[in-house]
Amino acid sequence: MAFTDSHAHLGDARFAEDREAVLARARDAGLERILAIAEASQPDDCRQTLALAENNDFVWAAVGIHPHEARHATEELLAQQEARVRSPRVVAWGEIGLDYHYDHSPRDVQQAVFCRQLQCARGARLPVIIHCREAWEDCLRILSQEWARAGLGGVLHCFSGTPQVARRALDWGFLISFAGNVTFPRAENLRQAARSVPIASLLVETDSPYLAPQAVRGKRNEPAYVVEVAGELARLHQLTRDEMGRRTGENFLRLFARARAPAKREPWPSSPR
Ligand SMILES: [Zn+2]
Ligand SMILES: [Zn+2]
Repeated sequence: MAFTDSHAHLGDARFAEDREAVLARARDAGLERILAIAEASQPDDCRQTLALAENNDFVWAAVGIHPHEARHATEELLAQQEARVRSPRVVAWGEIGLDYHYDHSPRDVQQAVFCRQLQCARGARLPVIIHCREAWEDCLRILSQEWARAGLGGVLHCFSGTPQVARRALDWGFLISFAGNVTFPRAENLRQAARSVPIASLLVETDSPYLAPQAVRGKRNEPAYVVEVAGELARLHQLTRDEMGRRTGENFLRLFARARAPAKREPWPSSPR
């Protein structure tokens, strides 16, 4: 048993009461690592997430300005970001991207902030975590212009696109991460996309506390349930669940070079907020 949750919002307020118990259950379920995603514009989320990564060898962090929050992006916030990602516990820049389903920020602002963060991530030499919902045409265009040649790769997280979209991203060195919605009865299109991605390019995630898989649907999601997602991908690719866990863990380590380093915890280069 060795699983990797490539995307969990451990700093979310819904984990405030029982964060340690959530991590203990993750370990009991066989998780070897969790990538905790913090929202750069929310100081409390960042503080919680970075502290967890600092205090737990099996937790790594990513920080970015989510497309929902793009309207709050400032040069000051980006400068804070650049300081945060210097921590050896931060392995990726994200999640960043475009969300035209909710349109919480104007689309032109989302695009500008997405481009800007891709430039910053290039400067920091970090892979990116991409959130894209109902915006594939613009997302692929921006990635082809701003990212494809960087050679740093990234993750299309909580994948909701077509096999064709996945193939473009694979050409640019991306991994494709599937979440609990791949287990939903009516998600045949997602399962078709998951079948189309080679095993060497797959990741599994919970996106917890959101998107609990079918077996626990309606509950608060948590990293331990990534085993359900691995089970579904295993079924689609005719592997055992443990084998899928092991393979997706290898993929994670191949992409996130910093997570391969010995679990040495160093003080933060500047006080994270
Ligand atoms: Zn997302
Ligand atoms: Zn997320």
